[in-house]
Amino acid sequence: MTPLGRRIAALIGAQGPISIAQFMALALHDPLNGYYATRDPLGAEGDFITAPEISQMFGELIGLWLAQTWHDQGKPARPRLVELGPGRGTLLRDALRAMTLMPEFRDQLEVVLVEMSPALRRVQETVLKDCGVPLRWVESFGSLAADRPLYLVANEFFDALPIRQYVRAERGWCERMVTADADGTLGFALSPVAATGIPADRDGAPMGGVYEASTAGAALAETIAHVIAARGGAALIVDYGYEAAGFGETLQAVASHNFAGVLDRPGESDLSAHVDFSLLADAAARGGANAWGAVEQGDFLRELGIEQRALRLAHGDDGMRAVLNAQVERLTYADQGRMGALFKALAIVPRGAPTPPGF
Ligand code: SAH
Repeated sequence: MTPLGRRIAALIGAQGPISIAQFMALALHDPLNGYYATRDPLGAEGDFITAPEISQMFGELIGLWLAQTWHDQGKPARPRLVELGPGRGTLLRDALRAMTLMPEFRDQLEVVLVEMSPALRRVQETVLKDCGVPLRWVESFGSLAADRPLYLVANEFFDALPIRQYVRAERGWCERMVTADADGTLGFALSPVAATGIPADRDGAPMGGVYEASTAGAALAETIAHVIAARGGAALIVDYGYEAAGFGETLQAVASHNFAGVLDRPGESDLSAHVDFSLLADAAARGGANAWGAVEQGDFLRELGIEQRALRLAHGDDGMRAVLNAQVERLTYADQGRMGALFKALAIVPRGAPTPPGF
């Protein structure tokens, strides 16, 4: 068991079983031993690799997407660019570089990075130190005032937000809790009392079916939509996930590019769950804005011109062309575990705003 696992077991010993959401929050963000708090998990040497780390084209196209939506909305004054969970700062670096093509947007930006991890914040500070625009950091989106048009991007952020799990049992929907036995081994158990407030569309679940409640993600999407409805702007949420929830569970642990048991190494493996995009779209509508998509990442990037961008970057060099083509395939193809269809993009814009590029 990891040091954090032992502390979680002690906590459960003292106060009783905890929810999966509480377990996720501790495992990912405990200031002393949490997964994100203590390390940079990204890249070939890390635990997983993300689209901006695969290709500079990803951040460049998203930078131009943000600038284009701003332009199409009549160039509202004093735009704020926000990235949720910027990782190594790679997407932002590439986006800001591409935005030099639209200086009118770039020159008046205030850029805010929403990052809870001190370790990753240090990486971001280094990577972005010469980017030429004012940057500031906050720990949560909720601490930002709703006082400017908001241009927001979140790649592989919503999948890290805590979820709760409910399991269909004879006595109704019961919450799956994390328990600890006498020697501190963590396990799962169902709450003795059935839960209320499970959505009616889950009624058809078979025994043992799972409902994952992403209340944190839905609440955040609603808040973002609220700001966009009031001030203008656009949000682009890219993640792996689905449009219609099934009855299976998607919570997973990953360490060194391999799946691991969710409870096996708290603080030392990444925990994430597939994103429920229809839930986010509903939340955006409740917040008073319009949601577009989700569309598949492959279609989205092709629509934004990733193939043409690869050709231009290659400058006629065959070796370079092969490298860039491999990146395009990894980001846009759907077979062999590639990202094109599993990953999806959802946009949030004000009601009545033009259709955002790629949707
Ligand atoms: N967007 C980056 C990194 C994805 S990893 C990329 O695509 O490469 C998830 C990122 O979100 C990390 O930077 C992590 O520290 C941050 N993060 C996760 N949960 C968070 C939370 N609740 N609040 C703020 N940041 C969070």
